[in-house]
Amino acid sequence: MSHLFDHHGAPGKGYAQPKPLLDGSELSLPDNLARKSLPRWPRLSEPEMVRHYTWLSKRNFGIDTGFYPLGSCTMKHNPRVNEVIAQLPGIADIHPHQPEHQIQGLLSIYYEMQEMLSVCAGMDAVTLQPVAGAQGEFTAIRCFQEYFRHRGEHQRTKVIVPDSAHGTNPASAAMAGFEIIEIPSKVDGRIDLDALRAVVGDDTAAMMITNPNTLGLFEHDIAEASELVHGVGGLMYYDGANFNAILGRTSPGLMGFDAVHYNLHKTFSQPHGGGGPGSGPIGVKQHLAPFLPTPIVSRREAIESEQEQAVDEFWYTWHEPEHTIGKVQQWHGNAGAIIRCWAYYRRYGKELRTMSEHAVLNANYLRHAIHREAKAAGVDHMFVDGAETVVAKHEFTLSLAPAKESLGISAMDVAKGLLDMGYMAPTVYFPLVVPECMMIEPTETESKDTLDTFAEDFAKVLQVDAETLHNAPITTPVRRVDEVYAARNLCLRHPFDE
Ligand SMILES: *Cc1c(COP(=O)(O)O)cnc(C)c1O
Repeated sequence: MSHLFDHHGAPGKGYAQPKPLLDGSELSLPDNLARKSLPRWPRLSEPEMVRHYTWLSKRNFGIDTGFYPLGSCTMKHNPRVNEVIAQLPGIADIHPHQPEHQIQGLLSIYYEMQEMLSVCAGMDAVTLQPVAGAQGEFTAIRCFQEYFRHRGEHQRTKVIVPDSAHGTNPASAAMAGFEIIEIPSKVDGRIDLDALRAVVGDDTAAMMITNPNTLGLFEHDIAEASELVHGVGGLMYYDGANFNAILGRTSPGLMGFDAVHYNLHKTFSQPHGGGGPGSGPIGVKQHLAPFLPTPIVSRREAIESEQEQAVDEFWYTWHEPEHTIGKVQQWHGNAGAIIRCWAYYRRYGKELRTMSEHAVLNANYLRHAIHREAKAAGVDHMFVDGAETVVAKHEFTLSLAPAKESLGISAMDVAKGLLDMGYMAPTVYFPLVVPECMMIEPTETESKDTLDTFAEDFAKVLQVDAETLHNAPITTPVRRVDEVYAARNLCLRHPFDE
């Protein structure tokens, strides 16, 4: 089998089109716009087409094909009921230009989502507009910036991030024009209050941090950190990518944060990976609400003439916050993603607390299972925990530095070896503070059986000789790729031979 573009120019055609369009006679295209030659489209029959896409899907790895413990990305099962709801014609067929009175149902879903997200994070207002966590970060940082401009605090030019932060944090703040101040973590991987104390001041705009942090550790000192930053007039930003660990147990609001982004595609289930589609709403405390992007959904009681279209006596309407930063995305965010997540949240409600408990339980179980199996196989000297802790949160890190030193086996080699065992590799080389880092997040949707088998297979990979591991993977459609070359020399077009 090969891909569809190799079939271009083959005889026959796989479509049926109404006659007038075929000979062009009834098209009134201007001459200069009409094609001079046939396009190089593949000509395939329907079965050939179906085979092409099925073939492509088999070359792929996803949460539906196997265990996907990609740390920090929260790759959980996406309940199919979400798809059914998102594809209801009354939802899927809406055009974003439709007038308010025709889309009261959709607006009520948006409103409810704003409210539910506010509640679970301890925030006061939410925008659903950003389409990725990273875009949510940028949106919030822009709101911070406008907030300070309104207060005449132009000297606040610095944003503080811990050295374990996700790369998007400093990138978002730098995009908005802030200077980044990186502070080192303590030896236990947590925030160093003395280091923070040494850098906060009049010029501090914000601190950006995730909790639990990227090592999977809960930041016990977060309330003190908030106090320090607020004490000098700065704002606290919560990177919500690790919300899966604490949802329903505590909230960024309780920890003193002023703003947060939600990775709906992580915490609240929604197919993701490969670049999207995602959804990264942000929530803010009251003092930042006037700066949110426009529009957001508000509601009031329906008046007499609106009763017929009203949902539960309410009338929903688009609303522009008073000092809005403008728009960060066309239309109204990724509606499909928002609806899937709304369906998920509505299905589980307060039970979501159990979700985060099981995510934490699974991570801790897997961590111990890996140590247990490695010990039984005599390979436990090849790695150490990435952070000293008794209990991790929803993810944990291992350092393959010992294997690298003694045998020349790197975290990358082990990751590639796991591909040959039929798994998606865990995240590697992040966070940067752990040498030869491997970051593992099983999520709450995996069974004990899966975790046990993965732990056994992990120990098996560590028993493979270095030479073989350097050459892994051998079972995947594409062998080891040069990722730097691929990123620097993007090739997204099929090289048609002329
Ligand atoms: C995923 C992630 C982000 C960015 O979110 P995207 O939706 O991928 O843009 C930020 N911080 C952390 C810790 C993450 O894991």
